[in-house]
Amino acid sequence: MKAIRDLIRDIPDFPKKGIIFKDITPVLNEPVAFHQVIQAISDRYAGQKVDKIAAIESRGFIFGAPVAFALQKGLAIIRKPGKLPYATFREEYSLEYGTDIIEIHQDAFQPGDRVVLVDDLLATGGTALAAARLIEKAGGKVAEICFLIELGFLHGREKIGNYPIHSFVKF
Ligand code: AMP
Repeated sequence: MKAIRDLIRDIPDFPKKGIIFKDITPVLNEPVAFHQVIQAISDRYAGQKVDKIAAIESRGFIFGAPVAFALQKGLAIIRKPGKLPYATFREEYSLEYGTDIIEIHQDAFQPGDRVVLVDDLLATGGTALAAARLIEKAGGKVAEICFLIELGFLHGREKIGNYPIHSFVKF
């Protein structure tokens, strides 16, 4: 994972002043690195009882979809409001300023499905916590929340609390 870590690019003051954005596009651009990331995530869950992968719009889709494909599991997509066409459950969560909403289809899971939630990056943990609650609303059980990157200094793990978390690259 050292090579992957070295490919992640810091973009200062994006999308606003004071934020150092972790740009994963150099990882996606490098076929060996991209393959290694998908392989590493897939390997972690290959021997486990997992029924479904869930991924958060939009960078979560980049990793969640190929992992679901590799493990031959279904994929549940968690999206911004108004994007999903069928009946949804929604979860509202607070941001630094204001609130945000994410949604999932009501038929995303069978009751008790064990779900691995995938996203690119754990920052404050607000998004992942809301997504985990949404999975439970839809009848799933969160087996683990998996991130490529964790910004440890933002203490997202503490916010997420009791849900199991794994990240591959920490800053
Ligand atoms: P949070 O809810 O604070 O954990 O934010 C997580 C979401 O915001 C993830 O889906 C990331 O894609 C995005 N994000 C937050 N901070 C950053 C950052 N510094 N660099 C890149 N993406 C970020």
